[in-house]
Amino acid sequence: MNVLTVDVVLKKLKKLYPEAKCTLDFTDPLQLLVATILAAQCTDARVNRVTKSLFQKYHVPQDYLNVPIEELEQDIRSCGTFHMKAKAIQETCATIIRDFDGEVPRTMKGMLTLRGVGRKTAAVVLATAFGVIEGIPIDTHNIRLLNRMGLVKTKNQNRIELEMMEKTPHKDWPILSHLMVAHGRAVCSAYNRHCAACPLKENCPSSLVHKRKDLSKLVS
Ligand code: SF4
Repeated sequence: MNVLTVDVVLKKLKKLYPEAKCTLDFTDPLQLLVATILAAQCTDARVNRVTKSLFQKYHVPQDYLNVPIEELEQDIRSCGTFHMKAKAIQETCATIIRDFDGEVPRTMKGMLTLRGVGRKTAAVVLATAFGVIEGIPIDTHNIRLLNRMGLVKTKNQNRIELEMMEKTPHKDWPILSHLMVAHGRAVCSAYNRHCAACPLKENCPSSLVHKRKDLSKLVS
């Protein structure tokens, strides 16, 4: 039976994706927080196109509250679910002003008090903007790949995060997630698995290379 360990995955994928990192454009924690809220069910590339002009108009939390919500909705419309995202951004900014002196909080506990911010968004912002590691951002790429690799056997986001936090060295929590995203986009997508080109193919329990080998043994 094939077994992959977190150590092997980290070693091989770090080599394959030495530049793996957050692909959202930002210059300060508030921008990253807003971009991460916009990135729900939207590609990072589209978010980056929208935030290019958005961040020229809105600089501090109060700026997002100084416009009617309909105006903010139009400014972020192409990111999808814009009613919900505009509401989340305005309420988040109001909380930041009221409870955190206008600064994005630097703890998971503080981040989770913001509307529209779950553990995934919080973990991304804390690690990327502040270097604070308090969780592993688990997105759809992480859920799919970690299951295919046999590192977890559940689709439950919270359980996956807890299990992977136990198995992964603390310093590698943020990079693990970025590596899953990079590998999910390049090699192991939802619809196509290019297992022959994957450095994990010898030990991955979902490798199609093994299935083909097994099949050829049966046929010969
Ligand atoms: S061997 Fe195939 S299924 Fe396993 S991680 Fe690589 S591409 Fe995905």
